[in-house]
Amino acid sequence: MNSKPEFVDKNISLYKFVSGPYDNNAYLIVCKQTNKSVIIDAPGDPHELISAAQSTDTEMMLITHNHWDHLLGYEEITSKFALRTGIGLKDAPGMMPRKPDFQIRDCETLSVGKIDIKAIHTPGHTEGSTCFLVNNILFTGDTLFPGGPGKSQSSDAFKTIIESISTKLLVLKPTIVFYPGHGLHGTIRNAKDDYSVFEKNCSSYEIQGDIEWLS
Ligand SMILES: [Zn+2]
Repeated sequence: MNSKPEFVDKNISLYKFVSGPYDNNAYLIVCKQTNKSVIIDAPGDPHELISAAQSTDTEMMLITHNHWDHLLGYEEITSKFALRTGIGLKDAPGMMPRKPDFQIRDCETLSVGKIDIKAIHTPGHTEGSTCFLVNNILFTGDTLFPGGPGKSQSSDAFKTIIESISTKLLVLKPTIVFYPGHGLHGTIRNAKDDYSVFEKNCSSYEIQGDIEWLS
């Protein structure tokens, strides 16, 4: 493989690819023992991702949520590999460009090679948004970014995403590194620290949109 891994431990190699009109992140996780792999998200222009995945045995593609910028490369990727695609239960209906092969429930564990992937349902950005935990790495889609939560379409959605983040993600090990659907990665420790500042200063949760923890 030509690409340089973003992260390596004794079990997995993680590769990150940035592509599409909104600079989306796609990830390829490879099991070192079996060379089996799983793709996280399917942004547009996935050529680099495809060529990297072709040197592995790609079995699965997981979609963090049903937003088109994470799915523009879906047809192209699925046409190249005999893989199964999955998305969170509540994001499956109406998924473009076509239905996933399976729907993912909260706390479900999926396996690819020797890799265990734990699904964490984190509604708010979309109803079915799902994060995926692999060892000490968390894929957060558009739910959690280093600077704050993902975009919310209403104040109810904002309260929901805050509930998801605070009760399901910030309770994870502080050393976990999270990789979002756009931009750079962060740690649970830093997110927790920033969130506690936000919580102290936030006078009203009747807000929505692009919120930052420290503004
Ligand atoms: Zn999104």
